[in-house]
Amino acid sequence: MKPKDLCDIDDLATSLVVDVFLGFETHKMDINYKKCYDRKMLQSIIDNFQKNPNMQIAFDSFWNKNYIKPKRLYKEFYKKLVKDHIERYMGMFYTDSGFTIEPCHRYSLENNIGAKVIAINYWCKDEIIKRLVGCVAELTEKEEGEILHIGKNDFSVMYSCRKKCAQLWLGPAAYINHDCQANCKFVANDKGTACVKVLRNIAPGEEITCFYGRNFFGENNSNCECCSCEKLCNGAFKTNEEQPSLGRYNFRQTSNRINAYRSPVRNKKVKKPKSPKKIKDTVLEPVTPNKNPEADRGEALLGSPYTKILLKTKGLDLDKSPEK
Ligand SMILES: [Zn+2]
Repeated sequence: MKPKDLCDIDDLATSLVVDVFLGFETHKMDINYKKCYDRKMLQSIIDNFQKNPNMQIAFDSFWNKNYIKPKRLYKEFYKKLVKDHIERYMGMFYTDSGFTIEPCHRYSLENNIGAKVIAINYWCKDEIIKRLVGCVAELTEKEEGEILHIGKNDFSVMYSCRKKCAQLWLGPAAYINHDCQANCKFVANDKGTACVKVLRNIAPGEEITCFYGRNFFGENNSNCECCSCEKLCNGAFKTNEEQPSLGRYNFRQTSNRINAYRSPVRNKKVKKPKSPKKIKDTVLEPVTPNKNPEADRGEALLGSPYTKILLKTKGLDLDKSPEK
């Protein structure tokens, strides 16, 4: 799918399904997005689907020029793409999904009104959570500049070492939060989608998390607000003098970070890895805005001004095919 189409279709699908289900507006790729739906009408479609999970009936109700926005998507050409993506979200209501999306008030980065993914089944180590998917669109450098805005809609961008390009990953998996001791990891396939693999046994009620990288929330995640950091008094919960001042690392919109990307170093030609094999073995790494790019493989590889671009690793390798 083209990135612009994926952005618009994802905003549409999250508006029709997730926002209605949760009762508030969740992340959007369109930074000028304006809500334009009657929640009550949509709520009945979702309620009916939960009682009788028939996607065709639900989609026929959604496929209405009052709901399909922007209007350009209300064409036969887009019908299957829109249906498939809405079904990725409606998928959480299937009895075999094993997860749900709930409100999350943990992260100041999201003004404490975000979402999280919660297990509703037991999941065993090495299982694949097939319905917890993301749809992938590759971005050219031009598209990165046109579509992505730092701190506003860069919440789900990754870097493919194999294809050497940034990718948008949008779908229910984009609601997975980071944890320093994550219980899952992203796995990709060649079909343009990605899902999630379980790293340790998960009980119903537990949040499903993935590790974004070591320096995603400031250096050594010193401003991380995840559950593990809270339990271990790490990250933002550290109380000793070592904690950096919040002025220095102000999460995604820090001027330091933006300036780091605008520095002359950033404009140098993007470094290529010495060998692709070496990159495959790299631990999941984010772009690290607060460090010298030359010292950070992820950043040197990327050359893009986004904060949540993750190096693809073994777990994210597109050669692996967890889905049929
Ligand atoms: Zn943490």
